[in-house]
Amino acid sequence: MKLLRNTVIRAGLEALYFSGAHYLLRPIFAGVGTIFMLHHVRPSSQAQFQPNRHLEVEPEFLRAMLAHLRHLDVDIVTMDEVHDRLSQRHFARRFACFTLDDGYRDNRDFALPVMRDFDAPLTVYVASDFAEGTGRLWWVALEMVKLATFDRLHDWLRLLPGDHDMQREISALCARHEVDETGIARDLCMSWDELKAFADDPLVTIGAHTITHCNLAKQTEATAAFELASSRARIEAALQRPVLHLAYPYGDRIAAGVREFKLAQAAGFKTAVTTRPGMIFPESAGHLTALQRVSLNGNYQDARILPVLTSGAATAVWNGFRRIDAA
Ligand SMILES: [Zn+2]
Repeated sequence: MKLLRNTVIRAGLEALYFSGAHYLLRPIFAGVGTIFMLHHVRPSSQAQFQPNRHLEVEPEFLRAMLAHLRHLDVDIVTMDEVHDRLSQRHFARRFACFTLDDGYRDNRDFALPVMRDFDAPLTVYVASDFAEGTGRLWWVALEMVKLATFDRLHDWLRLLPGDHDMQREISALCARHEVDETGIARDLCMSWDELKAFADDPLVTIGAHTITHCNLAKQTEATAAFELASSRARIEAALQRPVLHLAYPYGDRIAAGVREFKLAQAAGFKTAVTTRPGMIFPESAGHLTALQRVSLNGNYQDARILPVLTSGAATAVWNGFRRIDAA
């Protein structure tokens, strides 16, 4: 099913490109800017079984997007600058912002050098337990137990009532298949020491991504508020710098809604990003803790889709031509 869906989406993106519709839609749906969402940036693996491939792009695809944006004369800015331009309504120039979720080491090793070539800033959202080396990246654990039924189990796990139910099932699977669950975070994510050095780079902003990478909407209000405030405090204490920006784990409709948008504001975040697809419009200023993003998706790394993504055509079609999705 997933393969079919990817094929349909790819065909849609190509249709937008070949029809020239992205060119016609640009003035209306390109908005004032784009927040790009990435996870891993690393050379592609030759492995046959890569169910998480949508979460990674090759450094060269990132480079192609940056070159495309420079060609369009788009400003590449920090999340602080996104916040300031929205709140002060500075829309004279279009902007793009690059955000990377989870704090993967490859962000430092592969994304930063490419960003540096363009003198372009990036924001990395850190889950504090991942940096601590105790967090659980259950979706990677699942990949590592190499189950042929990944799709079905993944959907089933996300529908379980609580994170605890999911964590229990994954822990049982890992034990049965001798997968070291917390070893994954230590293997893939930057530690506090590494983050300290990484955060010293003037191009880098560190944001928060909760403590445990939980589905906030499934938590009690008190737990969700604690995940937000404490992750912020832990990262600030460890890195000795303010943490003002947030990315909701999973970030879709079932993981972050109106309650979470308010909690993020109450926790003192200046901005928060979802994974709901969309460009940034002047109206986004009224929803600074529900900002939409455009995913750079590993399944569609074709230079022809770059103008389709930056025109807003892809997300406009996806959203039924509605501009803001913050309810
Ligand atoms: Zn994440």
